[in-house]
Amino acid sequence: MGMEAGLKKELESLAGTSVSWDCPLSEYTSFAIGGPALALITVHELARLQRLLLFFVEHTIQWRIIGKGTNLLVSDTGFNGVILLLGKGFGVIAREEAGEHGGVVVQAGAACSLARLVNWCEEQGLSGLEFAAGIPGTIGGAVIMNAGAWGRELAEVLVSVTFVTSKGQVCTLPRAELDFGYRIWHDHERAEDARVVVAVELQCGVADQEQIRTLCRSYREKRRMKQPKGEPNAGSFFKNPDGDAAGRLIEASGLKGLIVGGAMVSPVHANFLVNSGGATAADVLELMEKVRIKVEEDSGIVLEPEVHFL
Ligand SMILES: Cc1cc2nc3c(=O)[nH]c(=O)nc-3n(C[C@H](O)[C@H](O)[C@H](O)COP(=O)(O)OP(=O)(O)OC[C@H]3O[C@@H](n4cnc5c(N)ncnc54)[C@H](O)[C@@H]3O)c2cc1C
Repeated sequence: MGMEAGLKKELESLAGTSVSWDCPLSEYTSFAIGGPALALITVHELARLQRLLLFFVEHTIQWRIIGKGTNLLVSDTGFNGVILLLGKGFGVIAREEAGEHGGVVVQAGAACSLARLVNWCEEQGLSGLEFAAGIPGTIGGAVIMNAGAWGRELAEVLVSVTFVTSKGQVCTLPRAELDFGYRIWHDHERAEDARVVVAVELQCGVADQEQIRTLCRSYREKRRMKQPKGEPNAGSFFKNPDGDAAGRLIEASGLKGLIVGGAMVSPVHANFLVNSGGATAADVLELMEKVRIKVEEDSGIVLEPEVHFL
């Protein structure tokens, strides 16, 4: 793993902020797992992001953008490239009255956490995002994942997504031109080059603040009842197959509590693989394979991971 000293210097001056070299990614994922990245940079401005992306192309440097790492399993050997995080400049929230779609359009920078956005909407008496109450991560990550809960998903409230291509071009596309599926933004998967989501617009309605608050509170409470506490994880590990629930299938195969090294199928919710202490990515991957094989043997269903890998 390495980078030539001259390039390192150039990167440091382009970043305009401190570059964390050999940065342990376990500190940047909710699984608390992962080896070091060659470098980690928090970018605060769009122009700087564009310049960095061009620099990566020019010098064939691998890079990846991450949000809060709540849907991510990072390899034990880490990442031989630059990890980008979006900083404060990408965390702004604003509203635009009676947009062309009626109601209120909320504009949010991609680094904004879902928690802050949901709270902000609650305070403003804006409905539409209640389903996201209690989902960790950033709105940028939520677009990539088409995050959802309780039968609703982000794509339903999206008005537009603004992203930067790996060649530094800024594009804003309206929802009608974006193709989302269950926990996937298809265009992102198909794109030849990686993209960095920098902002979104969301369609909200005006509603009674107390009603919004009550609904958000009830969703958060349901999560507290159903999900493991205190053990690092990345939420639902597998996607739910059509018409069934991954958790139900894993539980039916008797796998709750199954352990590989420090990784365990949560006894609380079978679709949560948890780091019960010192788990490595290799432990989680081996546990994942064991679960997939047994569930397929028992039900004929092949579980697909929802978690992304790095
Ligand atoms: C306890 C718990 C509960 C959860 N519950 C839910 C739930 O109910 N529903 C649900 O859908 N998810 C859930 N999740 C998963 C996760 O919180 C969401 O998928 C979230 O939207 C991920 O956001 P993030 O910022 O953490 O993304 P990350 O995990 O950092 O990244 C996810 C992917 O998106 C990419 N990415 C991140 N930001 C950007 C960006 N700005 N531009 C381009 N690519 C980007 C990353 O490279 C990666 O491939 C849960 C997770 C946990 C830990």
